[in-house]
Amino acid sequence: MRIIIIGAGPGGYETAAEAAAKGIEVLLVSDGPLGGTCLNEGCIPTKTFCAMDRPDQARKREVIAQLQAGISQLLKNPLITVLQGRAQLGKGTSVIVGETLYEADAVIIATGSVSASLPIPGAELAIDSSAMLELDTVPQRLCVIGGGVIGLEFASVFRKFGSEVTVLEFCPGILPRFDVDLAKRLKASLAKRGIKIETSARVTAIEENAGVRTVRWTKGDKEFSADADCVLMAVGRRPNISSLDLGAAGIEYGPRGIVVDDNMQTNVPGIYAIGDIIGGMMLAHVASAHGHRALCHLCGEQDATDLSLVPAAVFTVPEAATVGLTEEQCEGRDVAIGKSSYRANGKSVASGEPDGYCKVIADKDGGRILGAHILGAHASDLIHEAAVLIALSATVQQASSIIHAHPTVSEVLRDALRDAAHRCA
Ligand code: FAD
Ligand code: NAD
Repeated sequence: MRIIIIGAGPGGYETAAEAAAKGIEVLLVSDGPLGGTCLNEGCIPTKTFCAMDRPDQARKREVIAQLQAGISQLLKNPLITVLQGRAQLGKGTSVIVGETLYEADAVIIATGSVSASLPIPGAELAIDSSAMLELDTVPQRLCVIGGGVIGLEFASVFRKFGSEVTVLEFCPGILPRFDVDLAKRLKASLAKRGIKIETSARVTAIEENAGVRTVRWTKGDKEFSADADCVLMAVGRRPNISSLDLGAAGIEYGPRGIVVDDNMQTNVPGIYAIGDIIGGMMLAHVASAHGHRALCHLCGEQDATDLSLVPAAVFTVPEAATVGLTEEQCEGRDVAIGKSSYRANGKSVASGEPDGYCKVIADKDGGRILGAHILGAHASDLIHEAAVLIALSATVQQASSIIHAHPTVSEVLRDALRDAAHRCA
């Protein structure tokens, strides 16, 4: 079998490597560097910034180069050809790059997403996350439009670098898709670190005068403004479909992205779409999981991955992480909610990171774990224990009887599981 994959982000390159391991011949076409958004302008450079005291572009480039070399190595397989160029869909399962038509048994589209902006006067005065990652100086005043994942990660890191930060969020709370309780606590923690967060704020315009940018917004019927040296636009991302000529290929798509079925197949047989390009949860690990699902379908294999169970983390200080159902999603269901505090956790107090909490949601009848939400140091690592428990349909009674080493931060999750177990039955 021979396939063409368009895009070399975590969706594209991981799928290429997996396909080759299955004996499939792969043409991987990308118009950008290996690693896509994730490695070059997303997950990795932002987390490199998180580990710095000031922006250090040389260190950022070093980290990217090191990981890119790893991807090149992964793709060093006689079955994989990497082609630099912009791909456009042809007829059936063919792809055009430049003047050349390439044919295959199947095509996987993994062209990712690009930053969205607001249709407001002066929107061009704001910069996006990619441009923020190119800064080597620290703006004295940073105004962030959007209190979602990108907005908050940059707010947190630039606060650490010394900026005065204001975040303007349209919804009544930050991180609108997260558990409300967790989001409220994160907002309070960020405010304690000096980050000003305005919610229910509708940004109306950005103006510039003598190098100073003024962001105007309304809250109810009142008008406000904030002066800034740098404005970050972080109001979401949209699917990167413009170069593909989807209409000519007859592929169905909407504002959220390309429409696919449960096997990631589009309405055109043999053409699949994975990752950010289909909208939904725009996360690197989701893109890779989509690729695995598409490959399983192509090979006639069953994929056991539950694509609805996705751990996610926000790399603010403190970190926030989530998996499974939120309390709001459990409305109308009889649930037991267990909580624990980092303040009661020996390792956290000893390490000087005592801020945070953990919340576990379980079915009151039977105790099956439905969701977990963690705010605090190492939340992004701890969340995976909860993901495993949920995936294996464990109950809070079973999970809380598993011994956890002492003193470790993982005891925070164990304590929340115990608390939920007490509240069941
Ligand atoms: P992408 O990584 O976007 O890759 C798409 C590729 O397609 C690119 O290489 C591009 O050059 C190529 N391409 C596009 N059009 C064409 C064409 N016509 N022909 C050929 N090639 C083409 N996710 C996380 O899970 N954790 C995080 O911590 C995280 N942090 C992030 C921070 C930021 C600032 C941003 C912007 C995103 C972050 N994300 C994070 C999201 C993550 O980067 C994306 O979900 C992920 O990269 C999507 O992978 P993908 O393979 O779908 O697409
Ligand atoms: P997002 O959807 O997470 O947040 C956008 C925010 O902007 C929302 O809170 C929304 O209410 C707000 N908003 C929309 N219009 C607005 C307006 N007019 N004024 C003020 N606020 C407005 O999107 P994002 O933060 O841009 O991130 C894009 C994607 O990248 C997300 O899907 C995210 O999952 C992914 N990402 C993930 C990570 C991670 O996993 N740690 C990090 C960064 C990005």
